[in-house]
Amino acid sequence: MTARALLLALSTRPRLGQWMDRLPLTRRFVRRFVAGTSADEALAVIASLNARGLMGAVTYLGENVHTAADAAHATDTYLALLDEIKRRNLTALPSLKLTHLGLDLGESICVANLTRVLDRGRAVGTRVWIDMESAAYTDRTLDLYARLRPAQPHAACVVQAYLKRTPADVERLIDLGAAVRLCKGAYREPVAIAYRDKADVDRAYDRLADRLLAPDALSRTVYPGFATHDERRIAHVRQLVEERRVAKNRFEIQMLYGIRSDLHAALAAQGLAVRVLVPFGEDWYGYFMRRLAERPANLLFLLRNLARG
Ligand SMILES: Cc1cc2nc3c(=O)[nH]c(=O)nc-3n(C[C@H](O)[C@H](O)[C@H](O)COP(=O)(O)OP(=O)(O)OC[C@H]3O[C@@H](n4cnc5c(N)ncnc54)[C@H](O)[C@@H]3O)c2cc1C
Repeated sequence: MTARALLLALSTRPRLGQWMDRLPLTRRFVRRFVAGTSADEALAVIASLNARGLMGAVTYLGENVHTAADAAHATDTYLALLDEIKRRNLTALPSLKLTHLGLDLGESICVANLTRVLDRGRAVGTRVWIDMESAAYTDRTLDLYARLRPAQPHAACVVQAYLKRTPADVERLIDLGAAVRLCKGAYREPVAIAYRDKADVDRAYDRLADRLLAPDALSRTVYPGFATHDERRIAHVRQLVEERRVAKNRFEIQMLYGIRSDLHAALAAQGLAVRVLVPFGEDWYGYFMRRLAERPANLLFLLRNLARG
């Protein structure tokens, strides 16, 4: 088993998270990827990103809630975040997970919660990005998105380049004229449905970027968000937009808080629209483990410091 596979397997074991939460060193390390426990801390980070010409996205950490009360709490938190984004005049949007809004409890609960957030997003005048979770949720997420999109044109969704099905999903999203985040994919999926080899995922990413930036996609109002810290993938996107003379307001580059911060401002200074996703909250475990899995060197750093401390 590779380190990535092990970390992703552990990411679904919340009891390990409770243990890690008690260690001050892990909490400190988590802060590299998570802005803090409160919305205020995340919004303060976003204000400083905005001041440096970067757009923000905010995620209240949590997924796979077990009760309707927890789903309602997540929903209320996103509503309050949207109000604060407007009150503080921030350039930011929410990026949320459907299982945090109760998808596991039944679609009707999730749709009701999501609709409240989308309605508030429309009132505030901002997109709401719906993250993509593991492959167990791909169909439900995309079907729900396709159903809600006509009435909620500012709803945006995500596709994962590692899934072999994604080219077909992208065609469906192009037909809808959707705003689409393209990411590589952060979960452990069976080889039957997903590429495991980095080179295969990278090639798939480039092909999908090419498709999302095709003239017929853009003429249908497709708005791609290229979510990656991979300089080669970003260079490929830049080459495509230059060749096709795509206006800089027709797409954006998206990155995560705490990862390749050196690139954020540098790309924005070159005139690209760059959005940084800033997570906050106590329920950091799954998110944090996926970040460790993406770069096992992060785990070695953590273990070395644990041994020292
Ligand atoms: C804004 C945003 C939103 C996302 N939303 C989703 C989503 O909805 N669903 C989903 O499945 N995935 C999502 N992801 C995660 C994504 O799928 C990848 O797992 C993640 O971005 C790592 O892939 P990469 O494209 O950066 O390329 P990689 O090849 O993994 O990394 C390229 C380089 O980036 C740096 N890097 C990447 N990850 C890390 C890390 N954790 N720590 C330190 N350095 C790192 C390293 O320098 C590395 O060499 C999102 C990513 C971003 C940026």
